[in-house]
Amino acid sequence: MSAGQISAELTEAERVRILAKTARFNPPEVQTADGRRELVGLDRAEITAELAAIGEPAFRAKQLWHWIYHQGVTDFSVMSSIARPLQEKLAERFVIGRPVASVVQTSTDETRKFLFRFRDGQEAETVYIPDRVADRGAVCISSQVGCTLSCRFCHTGTQTLVRNLGAAEIVGQFMAARDSYGEWPSPHGETPRLLSTIVLMGMGEPLYNYDNVAKAMKICMDGEGIGLSRRRITLSTSGVVPMMDRCGEELAVNLAVSLHAVRDDLRDEIVPLNRKYPIKELIAACRRYPAASNARRITFEYVMLKGVNDSEADAHELIRLIAGIPAKVNLIPFNPWPGSPYETSTQDSINRFAEIVMDAGFSSPVRQPRGRDILAACGQLKTESRR
Ligand code: SAH
Ligand code: SF4
Repeated sequence: MSAGQISAELTEAERVRILAKTARFNPPEVQTADGRRELVGLDRAEITAELAAIGEPAFRAKQLWHWIYHQGVTDFSVMSSIARPLQEKLAERFVIGRPVASVVQTSTDETRKFLFRFRDGQEAETVYIPDRVADRGAVCISSQVGCTLSCRFCHTGTQTLVRNLGAAEIVGQFMAARDSYGEWPSPHGETPRLLSTIVLMGMGEPLYNYDNVAKAMKICMDGEGIGLSRRRITLSTSGVVPMMDRCGEELAVNLAVSLHAVRDDLRDEIVPLNRKYPIKELIAACRRYPAASNARRITFEYVMLKGVNDSEADAHELIRLIAGIPAKVNLIPFNPWPGSPYETSTQDSINRFAEIVMDAGFSSPVRQPRGRDILAACGQLKTESRR
């Protein structure tokens, strides 16, 4: 057996271990108060099975799928391709729900933050980030309530993990955000543009809730439903190496990697997951990631912390590390939150850093902080949910 095979098997064992461990944090099976079954979050096979159980053929499941995920309808009585008696039968047994927005705040820059409450009362935040220039925008979705990792610069990281979000709750955030903008196609109308991108960059580590995130993203990518291409979805991870491979094989969505430091001693401190999956392994996983071999690029996220990771030497080491990877480097000015231990790098050092990276041939956009006034910017999300 070659060394490559041994490490592949170890990786598989590690994946199984991670999936078993993280499943403990799955949401409780919550029924609606009246016992009806929630349809949002079910995949095609499950919807087909639910309908078969009440004696309805597969083509009904296809129709229902279209109404739920393509048209965004929540009321059976408007499903014009389904006869009235069946509409009533469906409404007796099923619901098409949404998480409830308990707070909605709109920033002066038009970023909108939602605090969504789920059936068991837990809450998570979702942010809509409009892009005026391109006339479209991105929905930043949470994958967990809290986070098990405690990155030093991240507000979510000061909260422990309360629980994973289920597939219904993950898709539900996107659907509810679309509701808020009335952004569903009319039966014969245009495709929605404003809410046409998903970034998994809200609360939580998506690769520590892989099964639910994968199911939700597959639903979002189904061409007869929400229909987002995988190029319109970006998953951001702090570097759960074994699950990055799995994500590449199964979803092949865009990958963003929260690098933030170029030496293990510093990364161990600010992204503690580095102690388990150090920089060398992380970069190797990026080189293996399938999207990197196509036209698409991996995004390296790099939070600019004054005097911590923002020197010219850091920039030079960064380009050495990622040499040869089709990549861009997203520089994120640190977004402070109450009690945060860091300061944002000066504009000067951000510019110098960006220049060095750019001179090496990588695009290095500086991320404009959005929605800072409503604490909706990267890393500022934190709810008061308790386990
Ligand atoms: N858990 C995932 C995704 C959520 S965080 C991850 O860590 O990648 C989304 C991005 O915001 C990550 O790159 C994260 O490191 C960054 N971030 C966290 N706190 C921040 C802060 N206070 N200021 C700027 N960026 C921050
Ligand atoms: Fe969790 Fe990401 Fe925040 Fe780290 S940066 S604590 S992984 S949400």
